[in-house]
Amino acid sequence: MKAHIVGGGFGGLAAAVLLIRNAEVSGADITIYEADERLGGGFFLGGSAESGYNLPGSVFDKEYRCTFELLKSIPSARNPSISVTEDFLAFNTGEPYHDRAHIFDRNGRIVHGPRFGLSLGDGLSLARFLLTPEAMLEGRRIEECFSQRFFSTEFWFLWASIMGTLPQHSAIEFRRYMNRFLYLFGHLSDMRGVMRTPINQHQAFIEPLVAWLRPRGVNFLTGAFVQDIGFAPSPGRIAVDRLDYERGGAATSVAVAPDDLVLVTTGSQHADLSAGSMTEAPSPRPSGRSWALWKRLAQGRTDFGNPDVFFGPDRILDSRWVTFTVTDTGTEFINQISALTSSKPGRGGLVTLKDSSWVLALSIFHQPEVIGQPPGTSIWWGYGLHPERNGNFVPKPMDRCTGAEILDETLRHLRFDKQLDAIMASSICVPCDLPYVNNIWLPRSVGDRPPAVPKGSTNLGLIGQYVEIPKDIAFTIEYSVRAAWEAIRILLKRGPAPPPVYQGQYDPKALFNALKVFVCQ
Ligand SMILES: Cc1cc2nc3c(=O)[nH]c(=O)nc-3n(C[C@H](O)[C@H](O)[C@H](O)COP(=O)(O)OP(=O)(O)OC[C@H]3O[C@@H](n4cnc5c(N)ncnc54)[C@H](O)[C@@H]3O)c2cc1C
Repeated sequence: MKAHIVGGGFGGLAAAVLLIRNAEVSGADITIYEADERLGGGFFLGGSAESGYNLPGSVFDKEYRCTFELLKSIPSARNPSISVTEDFLAFNTGEPYHDRAHIFDRNGRIVHGPRFGLSLGDGLSLARFLLTPEAMLEGRRIEECFSQRFFSTEFWFLWASIMGTLPQHSAIEFRRYMNRFLYLFGHLSDMRGVMRTPINQHQAFIEPLVAWLRPRGVNFLTGAFVQDIGFAPSPGRIAVDRLDYERGGAATSVAVAPDDLVLVTTGSQHADLSAGSMTEAPSPRPSGRSWALWKRLAQGRTDFGNPDVFFGPDRILDSRWVTFTVTDTGTEFINQISALTSSKPGRGGLVTLKDSSWVLALSIFHQPEVIGQPPGTSIWWGYGLHPERNGNFVPKPMDRCTGAEILDETLRHLRFDKQLDAIMASSICVPCDLPYVNNIWLPRSVGDRPPAVPKGSTNLGLIGQYVEIPKDIAFTIEYSVRAAWEAIRILLKRGPAPPPVYQGQYDPKALFNALKVFVCQ
């Protein structure tokens, strides 16, 4: 039996580990096709200390059940004598977030009030919302379920900056998030309970997974774009018999036997990513490659979902983020931000500048963030929830700004005017345009995402963030591991079932914590 995995992001790599570990498939029989030159998908690590790094921010929690189960077999890059899971949990136990200043207003004041600014009416709306069955929220937006006031509360800003949510996003996904993270309600403002990787996700997760898979003989084909898969003529059944890919300008067709397995990642949050520099804004790279295969599969078929709900130029307005990674050889910024937030780097969680028109959120990493980062250098990160708006100091939308302009805007919001020149001189700010990063939040209906195994399929599984996994939330690697786990188990009928999705609404302690917000805080 051969296994063909399309996509070398976390989900594709997880699928390969699960095939070897849970389903006893030989590593030498597995091929991973990745269109990019590098593996890792959304967990990218671009640039260098000299040119400035480019990487994603990091938000996890203890209920990544499939992920931690998977990673307990994988040695950590920082300390190969323990697993990635052990390293991750030990780091978060030893250095937990203790955020003392999450939201700042335009006057540089910390925003924190009783009940996170929620009124009793907001509390009742939240309770009613959580009790509404998902089927009744089909295609609806969050803003249809709450008063306008709710979206200006501290609670909303905390939530939106941690989870990346906008009022026009999917009510279904918001309800899932609420249930999944209900137990964090009481500690949203100090971010206790929110976790992060000890170093960037590429080196924390992707490199160890590849280091485990490579000696087991897994065949990695990077720069290999899978253009199509063919099906054997068979009414009522879906059986892949061919996979076509393009690599280095050459087209290759691979025969797929009935008992072989094909797992396809149907899209990517980091689709069409483009990075800029201190002097250049990111230039758009609309290739559409990461969902092209899904679009082809969905054409003329009803069981393969609707990629147009998530991808395409008209989807970008409500899904784009511009992120920026700052590599700094000086000390002024770290000293100033530590004083402002009363937290040393890595302990303070997110800093949200709620009155900045881009709604900037910053994350000051525990250092070093990158293995090999030169001593004395620090790395921090930020993103804008509203990159389509003009800045308050730089009169341009964020996605058209250079790294220098974004850094300048950020420093002025922080009121670091006196230190501005020194920080600008010691920093390299790399902006990164992610037009589809938040598309998992777009309003959707049943059937817009196909199941992990389409009806009638005998050897095709769909993996990643654009398949339907009941109850789970999509902006997570947990979702991609779960999708792969389910697809493999359904198709091969081997190995244990994935652990159930954590659901706070059935956890008395979580409910108690949530209630406390309204009664005692
Ligand atoms: C900025 C940012 C921050 C994030 N932060 C977090 C976080 O803190 N916590 C968290 O849990 N998750 C986070 N995520 C989400 C996380 O990156 C994703 O959950 C994860 O990467 C999904 O893995 P995946 O393999 O399903 O998809 P991806 O990582 O997107 O990988 C899919 C891969 O498939 C490839 N591909 C697609 N089609 C083809 C084809 N036809 N042929 C060949 N290759 C193809 C793509 O090139 C891509 O590399 C973040 C994402 C981003 C972008």
